[in-house]
Amino acid sequence: MKAPASKLPDVGTTIFTVISRRAEELGAVNLGQGFPDYPVDPRLIELVTAAMQAGFNQYAPMAGLPALQQRIATDVQRRHGISVDAGSEVTIAVGATEAIFSAILALVGQGDEVIVFDPAYDSYDPAVRLAGARCVHVPLQPPLFRFDWDRVRAALTPRTRMIIVNSPQNPSCTVMSPSDLQELARLAEERDLIVLSDEVYEHLVYDGAVHCSVLSDPALAARSLAMFSFGKSLHATGLRVGYCIAPAALTTELRRVHQFNTFTIATALQHAVAAYLGEKPGVFAELAPFFTAKRRLLTEGLAGSVLRVLPSQGTYFTLVDYSASQMLGALDDMEAARVLLENVGVAAIPLTPFYREPVPHRLLRLCFAKQDATLARAGERLRALR
Ligand code: PMP
Ligand code: GLN
Repeated sequence: MKAPASKLPDVGTTIFTVISRRAEELGAVNLGQGFPDYPVDPRLIELVTAAMQAGFNQYAPMAGLPALQQRIATDVQRRHGISVDAGSEVTIAVGATEAIFSAILALVGQGDEVIVFDPAYDSYDPAVRLAGARCVHVPLQPPLFRFDWDRVRAALTPRTRMIIVNSPQNPSCTVMSPSDLQELARLAEERDLIVLSDEVYEHLVYDGAVHCSVLSDPALAARSLAMFSFGKSLHATGLRVGYCIAPAALTTELRRVHQFNTFTIATALQHAVAAYLGEKPGVFAELAPFFTAKRRLLTEGLAGSVLRVLPSQGTYFTLVDYSASQMLGALDDMEAARVLLENVGVAAIPLTPFYREPVPHRLLRLCFAKQDATLARAGERLRALR
Protein backbone atom coordinates (compact mmCIF):
# COMPACT_ATOMS: atom_id res chain seq x y z
CA MET A 1 0.00 0.00 0.00
CA LYS A 2 1.13 3.53 -0.71
CA ALA A 3 1.84 5.66 2.36
CA PRO A 4 -1.46 7.34 3.26
CA ALA A 5 -1.78 11.09 2.85
CA SER A 6 -1.21 12.48 6.34
CA LYS A 7 -3.82 14.71 7.93
CA LEU A 8 -1.10 16.19 10.14
CA PRO A 9 2.02 15.96 7.97
CA ASP A 10 4.05 18.38 10.08
CA VAL A 11 3.25 16.78 13.44
CA GLY A 12 5.98 14.57 14.86
CA THR A 13 6.18 12.90 18.25
CA THR A 14 5.63 15.48 20.99
CA ILE A 15 8.65 17.21 22.45
CA PHE A 16 7.72 15.76 25.86
CA THR A 17 7.97 12.18 24.59
CA VAL A 18 11.12 12.86 22.58
CA ILE A 19 12.93 14.41 25.53
CA SER A 20 11.74 11.79 28.04
CA ARG A 21 12.85 8.97 25.76
CA ARG A 22 16.30 10.50 25.30
CA ALA A 23 16.59 11.24 29.03
CA GLU A 24 15.92 7.59 29.77
CA GLU A 25 18.48 6.41 27.21
CA LEU A 26 21.11 8.70 28.73
CA GLY A 27 20.16 8.12 32.36
CA ALA A 28 19.68 11.89 32.72
CA VAL A 29 17.78 13.65 35.50
CA ASN A 30 14.43 14.28 33.86
CA LEU A 31 13.06 17.73 34.62
CA GLY A 32 11.51 17.78 31.15
CA GLN A 33 8.10 16.19 30.79
CA GLY A 34 5.65 17.24 33.50
CA PHE A 35 5.02 14.26 35.73
CA PRO A 36 5.80 13.53 39.37
CA ASP A 37 8.52 10.93 40.04
CA TYR A 38 7.26 10.30 43.59
CA PRO A 39 4.51 7.81 44.46
CA VAL A 40 0.81 8.65 44.60
CA ASP A 41 -1.06 8.49 47.89
CA PRO A 42 -1.31 4.76 48.80
CA ARG A 43 -4.91 5.39 49.84
CA LEU A 44 -5.82 6.19 46.24
CA ILE A 45 -4.31 2.86 45.19
CA GLU A 46 -6.33 1.06 47.88
CA LEU A 47 -9.50 2.73 46.69
CA VAL A 48 -8.88 1.74 43.06
CA THR A 49 -8.28 -1.86 44.15
CA ALA A 50 -11.35 -1.81 46.37
CA ALA A 51 -13.49 -0.46 43.53
CA MET A 52 -12.43 -3.26 41.20
CA GLN A 53 -12.93 -5.84 43.93
CA ALA A 54 -16.38 -4.45 44.61
CA GLY A 55 -17.24 -5.23 40.99
CA PHE A 56 -17.13 -1.78 39.40
CA ASN A 57 -15.70 -3.17 36.20
CA GLN A 58 -18.35 -2.50 33.58
CA TYR A 59 -19.17 0.64 31.59
CA ALA A 60 -19.75 3.75 33.64
CA PRO A 61 -22.41 6.19 32.41
CA MET A 62 -21.27 8.00 29.26
CA ALA A 63 -21.00 11.44 30.88
CA GLY A 64 -19.35 10.19 34.05
CA LEU A 65 -20.08 8.51 37.33
CA PRO A 66 -22.79 10.56 39.10
CA ALA A 67 -20.94 10.40 42.43
CA LEU A 68 -17.86 11.93 40.84
CA GLN A 69 -19.81 14.53 38.86
CA GLN A 70 -21.50 15.54 42.11
CA ARG A 71 -18.20 15.83 44.03
CA ILE A 72 -16.89 18.11 41.29
CA ALA A 73 -20.05 20.25 41.30
CA THR A 74 -19.89 20.61 45.09
CA ASP A 75 -16.22 21.60 44.93
CA VAL A 76 -16.93 24.26 42.28
CA GLN A 77 -19.84 25.66 44.31
CA ARG A 78 -17.64 25.91 47.39
CA ARG A 79 -14.69 27.53 45.64
CA HIS A 80 -16.29 29.70 42.96
CA GLY A 81 -19.72 30.23 44.43
CA ILE A 82 -21.51 29.14 41.29
CA SER A 83 -23.90 26.30 41.09
CA VAL A 84 -23.07 23.73 38.46
CA ASP A 85 -25.54 21.01 37.55
CA ALA A 86 -23.63 17.76 38.03
CA GLY A 87 -25.69 15.79 35.53
CA SER A 88 -25.87 18.23 32.63
CA GLU A 89 -22.74 20.36 33.06
CA VAL A 90 -19.93 18.08 34.25
CA THR A 91 -18.40 15.53 31.88
CA ILE A 92 -15.68 13.10 32.91
CA ALA A 93 -13.06 12.54 30.21
CA VAL A 94 -9.79 10.68 29.62
CA GLY A 95 -7.67 13.43 31.10
CA ALA A 96 -8.02 17.02 30.05
CA THR A 97 -6.52 15.99 26.72
CA GLU A 98 -9.64 14.13 25.66
CA ALA A 99 -11.97 16.81 26.98
CA ILE A 100 -10.09 19.44 24.97
CA PHE A 101 -10.00 17.30 21.84
CA SER A 102 -13.67 16.34 22.00
CA ALA A 103 -14.73 19.93 22.70
CA ILE A 104 -12.78 21.29 19.76
CA LEU A 105 -14.06 18.60 17.42
CA ALA A 106 -17.61 19.24 18.58
CA LEU A 107 -17.63 23.01 18.40
CA VAL A 108 -15.45 24.24 15.55
CA GLY A 109 -15.49 23.23 11.91
CA GLN A 110 -14.64 23.98 8.32
CA GLY A 111 -13.57 27.59 7.84
CA ASP A 112 -13.66 28.54 11.52
CA GLU A 113 -10.78 30.28 13.23
CA VAL A 114 -9.59 29.68 16.78
CA ILE A 115 -7.39 32.10 18.70
CA VAL A 116 -4.56 30.50 20.68
CA PHE A 117 -1.80 32.18 22.65
CA ASP A 118 1.75 31.07 21.96
CA PRO A 119 3.61 29.45 23.62
CA ALA A 120 0.49 27.25 23.36
CA TYR A 121 0.14 23.78 24.83
CA ASP A 122 0.81 21.42 21.97
CA SER A 123 -2.52 19.59 21.71
CA TYR A 124 -4.67 22.56 20.67
CA ASP A 125 -3.47 23.20 17.14
CA PRO A 126 -3.69 19.61 15.82
CA ALA A 127 -7.18 19.22 17.29
CA VAL A 128 -8.32 22.44 15.62
CA ARG A 129 -6.88 21.34 12.29
CA LEU A 130 -8.47 17.89 12.49
CA ALA A 131 -11.77 19.69 13.04
CA GLY A 132 -11.20 21.46 9.71
CA ALA A 133 -10.63 24.83 11.34
CA ARG A 134 -7.52 26.98 11.65
CA CYS A 135 -5.62 28.39 14.62
CA VAL A 136 -4.68 32.04 14.67
CA HIS A 137 -1.60 32.19 16.90
CA VAL A 138 -1.18 35.31 19.02
CA PRO A 139 2.32 35.34 20.49
CA LEU A 140 3.08 36.32 24.07
CA GLN A 141 6.53 37.86 24.36
CA PRO A 142 9.01 36.44 26.84
CA PRO A 143 10.00 36.99 29.55
CA LEU A 144 6.72 38.45 30.85
CA PHE A 145 4.29 36.80 28.41
CA ARG A 146 1.68 39.54 28.97
CA PHE A 147 -1.57 39.56 27.04
CA ASP A 148 -1.83 42.31 24.45
CA TRP A 149 -5.59 42.60 24.01
CA ASP A 150 -5.30 45.07 21.14
CA ARG A 151 -3.33 42.46 19.29
CA VAL A 152 -6.00 39.88 20.09
CA ARG A 153 -8.71 42.19 18.74
CA ALA A 154 -6.68 42.70 15.59
CA ALA A 155 -6.51 38.93 15.13
CA LEU A 156 -10.28 38.48 15.25
CA THR A 157 -12.22 38.02 12.04
CA PRO A 158 -15.86 37.21 11.31
CA ARG A 159 -14.76 33.58 11.19
CA THR A 160 -13.36 33.53 14.75
CA ARG A 161 -15.44 31.05 16.68
CA MET A 162 -13.37 30.08 19.70
CA ILE A 163 -10.60 31.44 21.89
CA ILE A 164 -8.42 29.06 23.89
CA VAL A 165 -6.83 30.30 27.09
CA ASN A 166 -4.66 28.43 29.55
CA SER A 167 -4.02 29.73 33.03
CA PRO A 168 -1.81 28.92 34.85
CA GLN A 169 -0.08 28.73 31.51
CA ASN A 170 2.14 25.90 30.38
CA PRO A 171 4.93 26.50 29.38
CA SER A 172 5.22 30.21 30.28
CA CYS A 173 4.44 29.58 33.99
CA THR A 174 2.37 32.79 34.12
CA VAL A 175 -1.18 33.33 35.37
CA MET A 176 -3.97 35.46 33.98
CA SER A 177 -4.78 38.58 35.96
CA PRO A 178 -8.31 39.59 36.96
CA SER A 179 -8.17 42.38 34.38
CA ASP A 180 -7.17 39.89 31.66
CA LEU A 181 -10.17 37.80 32.61
CA GLN A 182 -12.38 40.89 32.28
CA GLU A 183 -10.93 41.68 28.87
CA LEU A 184 -11.52 38.11 27.79
CA ALA A 185 -15.11 38.25 29.02
CA ARG A 186 -15.75 41.53 27.22
CA LEU A 187 -14.26 40.32 23.97
CA ALA A 188 -16.06 36.99 24.05
CA GLU A 189 -19.36 38.74 24.66
CA GLU A 190 -18.84 41.36 21.95
CA ARG A 191 -17.86 38.79 19.34
CA ASP A 192 -20.04 35.94 20.58
CA LEU A 193 -17.08 33.59 21.01
CA ILE A 194 -16.86 30.22 22.72
CA VAL A 195 -14.06 30.15 25.30
CA LEU A 196 -12.10 26.98 25.95
CA SER A 197 -10.29 27.52 29.22
CA ASP A 198 -7.57 25.03 30.06
CA GLU A 199 -7.29 25.22 33.85
CA VAL A 200 -5.50 21.96 34.59
CA TYR A 201 -3.04 23.77 36.88
CA GLU A 202 -5.79 25.67 38.74
CA HIS A 203 -4.46 24.77 42.20
CA LEU A 204 -0.82 25.42 41.38
CA VAL A 205 -0.46 29.16 41.89
CA TYR A 206 2.16 30.78 44.09
CA ASP A 207 3.11 33.83 46.12
CA GLY A 208 -0.46 34.81 46.89
CA ALA A 209 -1.55 34.87 43.25
CA VAL A 210 -5.13 33.79 42.71
CA HIS A 211 -6.31 31.53 39.97
CA CYS A 212 -8.74 33.45 37.74
CA SER A 213 -11.17 30.83 36.52
CA VAL A 214 -13.72 31.48 33.81
CA LEU A 215 -16.13 29.92 36.30
CA SER A 216 -15.71 32.92 38.61
CA ASP A 217 -17.48 35.20 36.11
CA PRO A 218 -21.06 34.06 35.43
CA ALA A 219 -21.34 35.75 32.02
CA LEU A 220 -18.05 34.24 30.89
CA ALA A 221 -18.90 30.84 32.38
CA ALA A 222 -22.06 30.86 30.26
CA ARG A 223 -19.97 30.68 27.07
CA SER A 224 -17.00 28.64 28.34
CA LEU A 225 -15.80 25.09 28.57
CA ALA A 226 -13.40 24.79 31.51
CA MET A 227 -10.98 21.85 31.48
CA PHE A 228 -9.46 20.16 34.53
CA SER A 229 -7.30 17.15 35.34
CA PHE A 230 -7.06 14.85 38.33
CA GLY A 231 -3.71 13.87 36.84
CA LYS A 232 -2.38 17.19 38.11
CA SER A 233 -4.43 17.60 41.26
CA LEU A 234 -3.82 14.05 42.56
CA HIS A 235 -0.15 13.79 41.45
CA ALA A 236 -1.07 10.98 39.07
CA THR A 237 -0.66 11.88 35.40
CA GLY A 238 -1.21 8.24 34.47
CA LEU A 239 -4.65 8.13 36.06
CA ARG A 240 -6.10 9.74 32.93
CA VAL A 241 -9.18 11.14 34.61
CA GLY A 242 -10.07 14.72 33.73
CA TYR A 243 -13.27 16.66 33.29
CA CYS A 244 -15.00 19.53 31.58
CA ILE A 245 -17.42 21.96 33.16
CA ALA A 246 -19.62 23.78 30.66
CA PRO A 247 -23.20 25.02 30.36
CA ALA A 248 -25.68 22.36 29.27
CA ALA A 249 -25.89 23.53 25.65
CA LEU A 250 -22.11 23.33 25.16
CA THR A 251 -21.92 20.11 27.18
CA THR A 252 -24.52 18.48 24.92
CA GLU A 253 -22.29 19.15 21.92
CA LEU A 254 -19.16 17.99 23.74
CA ARG A 255 -20.85 14.71 24.62
CA ARG A 256 -21.94 14.08 21.04
CA VAL A 257 -18.23 13.63 20.28
CA HIS A 258 -17.11 12.24 23.64
CA GLN A 259 -19.52 9.30 23.38
CA PHE A 260 -17.88 8.12 20.17
CA ASN A 261 -14.36 9.20 21.04
CA THR A 262 -13.90 7.41 24.36
CA PHE A 263 -17.51 6.72 25.46
CA THR A 264 -16.69 6.28 29.17
CA ILE A 265 -13.78 6.47 31.56
CA ALA A 266 -12.51 3.54 33.66
CA THR A 267 -15.32 2.90 36.13
CA ALA A 268 -13.15 1.81 39.04
CA LEU A 269 -10.97 4.90 38.68
CA GLN A 270 -14.00 7.18 38.81
CA HIS A 271 -15.30 5.38 41.92
CA ALA A 272 -11.89 5.63 43.55
CA VAL A 273 -11.45 9.34 42.80
CA ALA A 274 -14.96 10.12 44.10
CA ALA A 275 -14.31 8.17 47.29
CA TYR A 276 -10.86 9.72 47.73
CA LEU A 277 -12.20 13.27 47.43
CA GLY A 278 -14.92 12.35 49.93
CA GLU A 279 -12.30 11.17 52.42
CA LYS A 280 -9.85 14.01 51.80
CA PRO A 281 -11.75 17.19 51.08
CA GLY A 282 -8.66 19.31 51.86
CA VAL A 283 -6.42 17.60 49.34
CA PHE A 284 -6.43 20.44 46.78
CA ALA A 285 -5.54 23.05 49.37
CA GLU A 286 -2.32 21.15 50.08
CA LEU A 287 -1.09 21.51 46.50
CA ALA A 288 0.14 25.12 46.51
CA PRO A 289 2.20 24.78 49.72
CA PHE A 290 3.53 21.41 48.57
CA PHE A 291 4.71 22.75 45.23
CA THR A 292 5.91 26.04 46.71
CA ALA A 293 8.39 24.00 48.74
CA LYS A 294 9.46 22.08 45.61
CA ARG A 295 9.83 25.32 43.66
CA ARG A 296 12.01 26.72 46.47
CA LEU A 297 14.22 23.61 46.47
CA LEU A 298 14.84 23.86 42.76
CA THR A 299 15.41 27.62 42.91
CA GLU A 300 17.82 27.30 45.83
CA GLY A 301 19.57 24.44 44.08
CA LEU A 302 20.26 26.76 41.15
CA ALA A 303 21.57 29.62 43.31
CA GLY A 304 25.12 30.38 42.26
CA SER A 305 24.63 28.66 38.90
CA VAL A 306 24.79 30.38 35.53
CA LEU A 307 21.05 29.84 35.13
CA ARG A 308 18.68 32.62 36.11
CA VAL A 309 15.37 31.36 37.43
CA LEU A 310 12.31 33.30 36.32
CA PRO A 311 9.77 33.39 39.12
CA SER A 312 7.07 30.84 38.30
CA GLN A 313 3.62 32.21 39.08
CA GLY A 314 1.90 28.90 38.47
CA THR A 315 2.08 25.31 37.09
CA TYR A 316 4.72 22.88 38.35
CA PHE A 317 7.31 24.27 36.00
CA THR A 318 9.72 27.15 36.07
CA LEU A 319 11.61 28.84 33.26
CA VAL A 320 15.35 29.38 33.44
CA ASP A 321 17.34 31.85 31.37
CA TYR A 322 20.61 30.34 30.17
CA SER A 323 22.02 33.36 28.36
CA ALA A 324 24.89 33.71 30.87
CA SER A 325 26.10 30.16 30.20
CA GLN A 326 29.34 29.87 28.17
CA MET A 327 28.28 26.46 26.99
CA LEU A 328 24.68 27.29 26.06
CA GLY A 329 24.38 31.07 25.76
CA ALA A 330 24.96 31.22 22.00
CA LEU A 331 22.57 28.36 21.24
CA ASP A 332 18.88 28.48 20.45
CA ASP A 333 16.68 26.67 22.95
CA MET A 334 16.34 23.45 20.92
CA GLU A 335 20.11 23.13 20.75
CA ALA A 336 20.54 24.26 24.36
CA ALA A 337 18.11 21.56 25.53
CA ARG A 338 20.02 18.95 23.55
CA VAL A 339 23.42 20.02 24.89
CA LEU A 340 22.11 20.27 28.44
CA LEU A 341 20.71 16.76 28.19
CA GLU A 342 23.73 15.18 26.52
CA ASN A 343 26.56 17.04 28.25
CA VAL A 344 25.13 17.96 31.64
CA GLY A 345 22.65 15.11 32.10
CA VAL A 346 19.56 17.18 32.80
CA ALA A 347 16.44 17.08 30.62
CA ALA A 348 14.56 20.35 30.06
CA ILE A 349 11.87 21.42 27.61
CA PRO A 350 12.52 24.14 25.00
CA LEU A 351 9.75 26.66 24.25
CA THR A 352 10.18 26.83 20.48
CA PRO A 353 7.83 23.88 19.76
CA PHE A 354 5.04 25.89 21.40
CA TYR A 355 5.39 28.89 19.09
CA ARG A 356 4.11 29.09 15.50
CA GLU A 357 6.69 31.81 14.74
CA PRO A 358 9.78 31.42 16.93
CA VAL A 359 10.50 34.43 19.16
CA PRO A 360 14.04 35.22 20.33
CA HIS A 361 14.72 34.00 23.84
CA ARG A 362 17.15 31.94 25.89
CA LEU A 363 14.70 30.01 28.06
CA LEU A 364 14.18 26.40 29.02
CA ARG A 365 11.39 24.88 31.12
CA LEU A 366 12.20 22.77 34.17
CA CYS A 367 9.63 20.66 36.06
CA PHE A 368 9.77 20.70 39.86
CA ALA A 369 7.11 18.02 40.51
CA LYS A 370 9.96 15.73 41.52
CA GLN A 371 11.33 14.06 44.62
CA ASP A 372 13.57 16.30 46.70
CA ALA A 373 16.47 13.99 45.88
CA THR A 374 15.84 14.40 42.14
CA LEU A 375 15.77 18.17 42.49
CA ALA A 376 18.98 18.07 44.52
CA ARG A 377 20.69 15.91 41.89
CA ALA A 378 19.54 18.26 39.13
CA GLY A 379 20.77 21.24 41.14
CA GLU A 380 24.20 19.65 41.56
CA ARG A 381 24.54 19.02 37.83
CA LEU A 382 23.20 22.42 36.83
CA ARG A 383 25.54 24.26 39.22
CA ALA A 384 28.42 22.62 37.37
CA LEU A 385 27.22 24.10 34.07
CA ARG A 386 29.54 26.79 32.77
N1 PMP B 1 -3.30 21.19 29.29
C1 PMP B 1 -2.10 21.52 29.75
C2 PMP B 1 -1.70 22.94 29.77
C3 PMP B 1 -1.23 20.53 30.23
O1 PMP B 1 -0.03 20.85 30.65
C4 PMP B 1 -1.66 19.20 30.19
C5 PMP B 1 -0.82 18.05 30.67
N2 PMP B 1 0.42 18.24 30.96
C6 PMP B 1 -2.93 18.91 29.70
C7 PMP B 1 -3.72 19.92 29.24
C8 PMP B 1 -3.43 17.50 29.61
O2 PMP B 1 -3.88 17.03 30.81
P1 PMP B 1 -4.18 15.48 31.04
O3 PMP B 1 -2.88 14.86 31.42
O4 PMP B 1 -5.20 15.45 32.12
O5 PMP B 1 -4.70 14.94 29.76
N1 GLN C 1 1.65 18.28 29.77
C1 GLN C 1 2.88 17.61 30.08
C2 GLN C 1 4.00 18.64 30.08
O1 GLN C 1 3.75 19.78 29.82
C3 GLN C 1 3.19 16.52 29.11
C4 GLN C 1 2.02 15.77 28.58
C5 GLN C 1 2.42 14.92 27.42
O2 GLN C 1 3.47 14.32 27.42
N2 GLN C 1 1.58 14.90 26.45
O3 GLN C 1 5.11 18.31 30.31
